[in-house]
Amino acid sequence: MRKAAEIDDEKVKALAQKFVDDPFVELRFSNIMNLSPLHAPPVHAEDGYFAYNDSNFEGRRKILEEKAAVVLYEKNFELQVFRAHCVNIVRDSGTDPELKGYWKYGSSSPEICGMAYRVLGQRAVHAMGNEVRRVQKKNPKPPKSFEDYASQRAYRPPRRRILLSQNLTFNTLDKLMVFSDLPNETVEDVQIPDSLLYDYSYSNKVYAGREPGLAKAVRMADEPQNLLSCDCCSREPIVPCYENPDCMCYKVNQSLQQFQQSTEKTEFSTFKPILFPKATDTFYECIGFACSDACACRGRCTNNSLLLLEKRLFPFEIYRNDPLVGFSVRSYAMIPAGTPVMEFIGEVTEMCNLNEESRDYAYQITYPSDAELWKHIVNLGEWSKEYKTMLKEFSKKSYLLDPKKFGNVARTCLHSCTPNMEAVRVFQKGLSPAHVRLVLVALEDIFPGCPVSFYSATTFLMHCA
Ligand SMILES: [Zn+2]
Ligand SMILES: [Zn+2]
Ligand SMILES: [Zn+2]
Repeated sequence: MRKAAEIDDEKVKALAQKFVDDPFVELRFSNIMNLSPLHAPPVHAEDGYFAYNDSNFEGRRKILEEKAAVVLYEKNFELQVFRAHCVNIVRDSGTDPELKGYWKYGSSSPEICGMAYRVLGQRAVHAMGNEVRRVQKKNPKPPKSFEDYASQRAYRPPRRRILLSQNLTFNTLDKLMVFSDLPNETVEDVQIPDSLLYDYSYSNKVYAGREPGLAKAVRMADEPQNLLSCDCCSREPIVPCYENPDCMCYKVNQSLQQFQQSTEKTEFSTFKPILFPKATDTFYECIGFACSDACACRGRCTNNSLLLLEKRLFPFEIYRNDPLVGFSVRSYAMIPAGTPVMEFIGEVTEMCNLNEESRDYAYQITYPSDAELWKHIVNLGEWSKEYKTMLKEFSKKSYLLDPKKFGNVARTCLHSCTPNMEAVRVFQKGLSPAHVRLVLVALEDIFPGCPVSFYSATTFLMHCA
């Protein structure tokens, strides 16, 4: 992928130590010193990262306000940007040894488009309050002209924009620009809400002070008896875990398919598109398990539906063109249907510990209706007695991802009743609520310039397309 620049060892060590001392438990990595630059707090930090990160919301707002500037774009600038990103993705996916020959970038096949539009059609009917009847035709034809479709859905910004941030992540490897396109707005009166000032994070966190049980479970899940990992290996860049019936991770992944009511199953593998044969209850039924850095394959295998996310292939932009809706996210590139687009990052919190002001943003990841899932999970492994008891306790509670303090681009996405991304759960390394990763998958081919959205039951401000 985008090549990591030389890493300043001392800086990395200092940052890693800071995280070891942090009361927030990082969920993804057992050995903090082995953090790769893309996962770490932005070690390829831009100038100003430390000043920004050490400031409170007020300080951060000031920093952004001082740098806000009007930019004027040429007429066809957008198209050039889209084209350049498309070229980059093709180049990156063709040169990365973990993608080359395994994953191909291009628009989806007619079969995949057909399946996606069938589901979207059902979803639209469902959103109108009507009962979904199964569409008989298996693969209805996609719309005749994708260009027409894209031009209807894409956001075309004005040529005069206010650039609020060159890069909200402060990570040179993951650029995220923020624009405000409100009519009549000037640099002097630009409004920057708290919802833009969170700590940009690449993994979920558990605050041990608030969730001591969960923090303990994260540590216990790393003990040999409780760790869910495999010892598959291969000389190839990608290990075929998904094709190995003896791979522990694959076995767990497959066993979770039993919760799907449909005869066609949603599969969670690394390079095949994640497709949803039916429109309803996908969040509750479609659950995956992925290999991780704890496995011999290090997650570089065919049983890791989270691997593409790590590559950060798809660039986004945050923009605001309507003061009532607030900020939205749009894609700069074409994203094929079935592709994991982004992860929704936040702090894992039990419902009763959630701050009042976080209710609008938090995404619920476990439900009381998950009872069968938890029964299955508790009996999956030869866990230690204490760990098993903990898993049983978690099953009775509801957990959420709260992005108020720690978050990523996903927290800014629009809510929609007919969204173009579907939220699904993928467990990794363990099976506690702290090991759930919320993945947003493209429900259709998403075109350059199109806003990305997902259905979020907890969002109060509805923005229905
Ligand atoms: Zn394996
Ligand atoms: Zn594994
Ligand atoms: Zn694997």
